[in-house]
Amino acid sequence: MFTARRARFLEQIPGAVAVFPAAHLATRSNDSEFDFRQDSDFWYLTGFDEPEAVAVLLATPPRPRFVLFVRRRDPKQEVWNGYRAGTQGAIKRFGADAAYPIDQLDKVLPRLLRDADRLYFRLGHDAAMDRKVLGALERIRRTERQGHAAPAAIHDPCEVLHQMRLVKTPEELAHLRRATDITCAGHRAALRAARPGQHEYQLEAEVEYVFARLGAQSPGYSSIVGSGPNATILHYSTNRRKMEEGELVLIDAGAEVDGYTGDVTRTFPVGRRFSRAQRAVYAEVLHAQQEVIAGIKPGMEWNRIHERTCELLTESLLKLKLLKGRAKTLVKKKAYRKFYMHGTSHWLGMDVHDVGHYRRRKDWTKLEPGLVLTIEPGIYIAPDAKGVPPALRGIGVRIEDDILVTPEGHENLTAGVAKEIDEIEEIRGRALGRAAAG
Ligand code: CA
Repeated sequence: MFTARRARFLEQIPGAVAVFPAAHLATRSNDSEFDFRQDSDFWYLTGFDEPEAVAVLLATPPRPRFVLFVRRRDPKQEVWNGYRAGTQGAIKRFGADAAYPIDQLDKVLPRLLRDADRLYFRLGHDAAMDRKVLGALERIRRTERQGHAAPAAIHDPCEVLHQMRLVKTPEELAHLRRATDITCAGHRAALRAARPGQHEYQLEAEVEYVFARLGAQSPGYSSIVGSGPNATILHYSTNRRKMEEGELVLIDAGAEVDGYTGDVTRTFPVGRRFSRAQRAVYAEVLHAQQEVIAGIKPGMEWNRIHERTCELLTESLLKLKLLKGRAKTLVKKKAYRKFYMHGTSHWLGMDVHDVGHYRRRKDWTKLEPGLVLTIEPGIYIAPDAKGVPPALRGIGVRIEDDILVTPEGHENLTAGVAKEIDEIEEIRGRALGRAAAG
């Protein structure tokens, strides 16, 4: 899989060399570190999951090559911090044509870069690596009289690589499906587990417990569990509040499996049923989400997703008496922004906000089979919102699914979690009925 990807990448940069650094370990506090997460670009091309590594891909004569710089093996260190592949592992297990210890990078890199037409390297992403690469170029320039030349231009490799990552291969979709399946299982568990009087972090624990038990390496991003007024805070991830009967709770969480993540949001009652006001808002968001999903198909321009959602939600806001006036004028004035302030969609894949162009110059990206995107409309009414019906204040609803564009249209990868009002109330009723009985 990685060999084929590297070959596809190299075909697109004839005569050039590309350099990709691995992610660094990040300090959490004092001498302890965050769990390591490999850089997605590096991982996509190498499958190599260690820090302190650099991949060099050469599309120069005599033939395409893949060179890895890795940490030296060190039995003493490995006892403390885990196994290292070393240079032999890089060749045998990761398919490198050559491998060097990372401390040799400064010495070897000029040799790999010299005489290439162009260099593909993402400047500004990793300051230490910028210095190393620019240093290598300078050392090559000093060898001009020996007949060597430095690459004449530096390009961003992401122009090529991120367009590759945008269109998911069947292997990637298999990973992504595992991630979205486990994501759904976590949300289903939360839908059964929520109880009035519980704290948000307890519900977060239910979701993440299921993620971990089913094999997710980590959540793909900080889980959001916002109850009552917290549901109106878009990136709330403190999750410390006590949830009360009569409130809604919004959960935005995704499981990461083998480098791919799900991204799902559900909003449901902490008790058994939606209140009349909550139901009214929820029904509008659900309607918009289903309408927009129904229209997803190849050829559609990406920005139409958000435009259509804003049109639908403006009609909803009029119905709910949150806005007054003519729909057309309100859409033009973006009046919905007071209650719907975020975008409707983003690409999904190795990163929750995955890479790939949304727009190039004046052209919006057209949907094509293999793209995966979220559809996530919402309505958020601040607890202190002025000029709105009091019963609606403090209600926040978002519903989000992960949609694969297929040749025929689309497939909802996260249809496995309830979102219809009746279905949700039935699940909540059964869950709380059991709790009362048991
Ligand atoms: Ca999202």
